[in-house]
Amino acid sequence: MRSIRCWKPPAPSAPTSCSRSTPAGFPAAYRAFCEGGWTALGCDPAYGGQGLPNSIGVLVQEMICASNMSFGMYPGLGHGAYAALSKHGTPELRSLYLPRLVSGEWAGTMCLTEPHCGTDLGLIRTRAEPAGDGSYRITGTKIFISGGEHDLTDNILHLVLARLPDAPSGTRGISLFLVPKFVPAADGRPGMRNAVACGAIEHKMGIRASSTCVMNFDGAQAWLVGEPHRGLAAMFTMMNEARLGVAIQGLGLAEVSYQNAVAYARERLQGRAPGGAAHAGPADPILMHPDVRRMLLTMRAMAEGCRVLGLWTALQQDIATRHPDPARRQAADDFVALLTPVVKALFTDMGWENTATGMQVLGGHGYIREWGMEQYVRDARIAQIYEGTNGIQALDLVGRKMPAHAGRYLRRFFHPLSSWIEAHAGDPVLAEFVQPLGKAFGRLQQTTAALARSGLADPAEAAAGATEYLRLFGLTALAWVWARAAKVALPHATTDAFYRAKLTTARFYMQKIQPQTGALSSAILAGGGTLREFEDTAF
Ligand SMILES: Cc1cc2nc3c(=O)[nH]c(=O)nc-3n(C[C@H](O)[C@H](O)[C@H](O)COP(=O)(O)OP(=O)(O)OC[C@H]3O[C@@H](n4cnc5c(N)ncnc54)[C@H](O)[C@@H]3O)c2cc1C
Repeated sequence: MRSIRCWKPPAPSAPTSCSRSTPAGFPAAYRAFCEGGWTALGCDPAYGGQGLPNSIGVLVQEMICASNMSFGMYPGLGHGAYAALSKHGTPELRSLYLPRLVSGEWAGTMCLTEPHCGTDLGLIRTRAEPAGDGSYRITGTKIFISGGEHDLTDNILHLVLARLPDAPSGTRGISLFLVPKFVPAADGRPGMRNAVACGAIEHKMGIRASSTCVMNFDGAQAWLVGEPHRGLAAMFTMMNEARLGVAIQGLGLAEVSYQNAVAYARERLQGRAPGGAAHAGPADPILMHPDVRRMLLTMRAMAEGCRVLGLWTALQQDIATRHPDPARRQAADDFVALLTPVVKALFTDMGWENTATGMQVLGGHGYIREWGMEQYVRDARIAQIYEGTNGIQALDLVGRKMPAHAGRYLRRFFHPLSSWIEAHAGDPVLAEFVQPLGKAFGRLQQTTAALARSGLADPAEAAAGATEYLRLFGLTALAWVWARAAKVALPHATTDAFYRAKLTTARFYMQKIQPQTGALSSAILAGGGTLREFEDTAF
């Protein structure tokens, strides 16, 4: 049985310092991080931010996740709280809290999960009672709350989903509240200790330096964020941002695992590569073995492709929020809505697969802790689970995004892709890239039509193929990314090693990874009959 270390909250009126500590070095690193302005990158200059585009933010985020995913979660959650409050908070809440979130002085959390409800947030039981003075009192227990308690900041702002007394049942009856750990005093500094406390810290497989907390709300003072009963929509501002953020966690770990695997493969001498000795020493570097090269190139093709796709999605986010033309904003917003579940699930699956492959490159040493590769594997696993499991992302893609506005979201991706293929179809030099891209796209179109048809008659049938469909969608998007990269690289490839590597990686993707789209489309078109046929009692 799990041991729960209970920490009794102090009396609400007595300000106390936090007894939970992050690993040695974290507080100093966090201070340096804030002083360097890294928490303020994409934030509004009106609140002390630097106003930089999100497309810069995701590149920085990848490096942070590659360096230490646990550390990156603390500022990441602060930024999520910033996003939700800046979009849905009242002017008073914004002016009080946003500058402190932007500076990193205060951190944030998102409190959705309860012991009996994770995916199904319609089951939330946490209650909110109006206090009569414009604020509310929150009572309930949330579990698995990242950054629920720590010693990095003077205050922690919890964004909490709860039900008002008159709330309808289900997801339509959920409201969003802000619960500060310390209620700000008149001068804005942390004042009275609020009735929210960490009841336990989970022991888990990875991201061990990120606290995962049971949070008890015992009549905690709270402020409504957004409209009553519309909390889930408001929380989605934070969750959509977090989904791209989690995707980037997968990418960061995939990249750092690749870099370590390459460094090891250059130095480790084992056996002779087929075709004769290539090295003067007693054995060849394992980098020379075709199977090791297969692993490294698979990691590289997936990580580099995902980086471009993630950056492209972030760029569309920037256009959706900042472009002067409303039609461009709408088109970009549709693209982001469609791609968000794809990048979340594709990148985090890729993070898990790449980190496992990176471990494989190191052989037994990869499995031994001192080499650091096993930490990447452990850290990568959670990203497939939180922020909506990858299975739920697939259902979102097939059940919501695909049929939305009679296929309008899909057209934002399909139409430009189709035009690109058409425009390059007659180019003999690009044919080795455009033809496989066309094949993958054909499979995507065929399975989209099949799932849309079967989904109308029986939603369970579409749900049965959702995960395979999301992967097919993602691999087709990567095929497009690599075909475009090849076009850019081709003119420079003979003279520049950087572009030559791009071109060969694009070729590798088309020859060795794109064919998976054939297997995926066969599996989707086979339908979900066997999933239904198998009797429950036989499991
Ligand atoms: C380390 C860590 C950090 C976390 N951080 C936070 C946080 O900061 N804030 C927060 O609120 N939560 C957080 N979570 C919770 C996390 O978001 C949930 O664990 C996740 O949403 C899944 O919920 P669950 O664990 O209850 O699984 P369940 O919902 O019970 O799901 C179990 C399985 O059933 C599948 N499933 C469930 N419903 C359906 C369905 N309708 N159709 C198809 N399949 C379905 C799921 O895909 C999954 O495979 C964290 C969890 C962990 C482990």
